[in-house]
Amino acid sequence: MNRFFLNFLSCPVCQGQLLLYKREFLICHKEQLVYPICSKIPILLKSEAINILEK
Ligand SMILES: [Zn+2]
Repeated sequence: MNRFFLNFLSCPVCQGQLLLYKREFLICHKEQLVYPICSKIPILLKSEAINILEK
């Protein structure tokens, strides 16, 4: 996943910018939601997101 590709990804909840998190996730800092990346494909679904505040 390169930064150029990352610029085209936005949070499905708030349309905000997503940042790479621990190399396997994308994070939206606004909602503190983490989206998993499976086989280099980000799963940008709210139902698949992990709320890191609840951990
Ligand atoms: Zn968001």
